[in-house]
Amino acid sequence: MIPAPFDYVKVTSVEEALEALAEHGEDAKLLAGGHSLLPIMKLRLAVPTALIDISGISELSYVRVEGDEVAIGATTRHHELERSAVALAEVPLLPHVAGRVGDPQVRHRGTLGGTVAHSDPASDLPTALLALGGTVVVQGPAGRREIPVTEFWLGFFETALSPDELVVEIRVPRTGAAGWGYEKFTRRENDWPIVAAAAVQGRVALANMAGAVVRASATEAALAGGASIADAAALADEGTSPNSDMHADADYRRHLARLLTRRALEKAAA
Ligand SMILES: Cc1cc2nc3c(=O)[nH]c(=O)nc-3n(C[C@H](O)[C@H](O)[C@H](O)COP(=O)(O)OP(=O)(O)OC[C@H]3O[C@@H](n4cnc5c(N)ncnc54)[C@H](O)[C@@H]3O)c2cc1C
Repeated sequence: MIPAPFDYVKVTSVEEALEALAEHGEDAKLLAGGHSLLPIMKLRLAVPTALIDISGISELSYVRVEGDEVAIGATTRHHELERSAVALAEVPLLPHVAGRVGDPQVRHRGTLGGTVAHSDPASDLPTALLALGGTVVVQGPAGRREIPVTEFWLGFFETALSPDELVVEIRVPRTGAAGWGYEKFTRRENDWPIVAAAAVQGRVALANMAGAVVRASATEAALAGGASIADAAALADEGTSPNSDMHADADYRRHLARLLTRRALEKAAA
């Protein structure tokens, strides 16, 4: 399938990207790894008039410690995060999850900013970020603002990002040696999750259980109240609204959410 015609602009700095966004308007799209955008353009579900290629903005490719947080630039690719010595030491959940995204080709092209901005409810890294509880740093014509991850993903392909802004950085608390767990259920090793659960420091997030990645709030409240892992995990699907599709029906997804949450919490506690 062939996408509709579009203009192509390659930028090498955040300023150039913002200028190009202002010039081409709301019908322009940023292009990072292209692994989510290009497939939907081929299906003509997205028909941007211009693509602004930000993949070469090297100033946004980094993983570094800043105070109590780890800061990750938006054009950092999944495989760079997977192998980052800083991430492995300071926030090991993230490199583990980066290594579970798709296959090596996807991990060598896909970027953290791209998966965060895309807001697919089945995406792995946003699930981990939601459990970690950090912030998404965005930049637009009025400057930078920080959006807590709990307020960033609003629904299916919908975020708190304005059309004239780009994601520049993701910041997460340093968890160090604190226990964590990530459980992803797929039909084949390299697939997207049918359901996934991330657990760290008493917080739990789920993939594919609602229109966006979602926290298992009832589980978290039960844990905070002293419930056992088994009892808390039994509440993981409360407040969720999973779909039925060719991979799993909603009831099976609810079962998976409870099971994977229990396993993720047990790993985090081990
Ligand atoms: C075969 C295949 C298997 C995959 N498997 C998985 C999987 O198992 N788990 C998983 O989580 N993901 C999976 N993915 C998706 C992959 O992780 C993508 O790379 C990711 O979702 C999007 O990142 P990208 O850099 O490719 O973004 P792009 O496709 O370039 O962009 C996606 C969207 O984000 C916008 N965007 C990109 N960067 C920015 C930015 N900095 N600021 C604002 N907007 C921006 C674009 O305009 C576009 O709307 C898979 C993809 C493929 C093709």
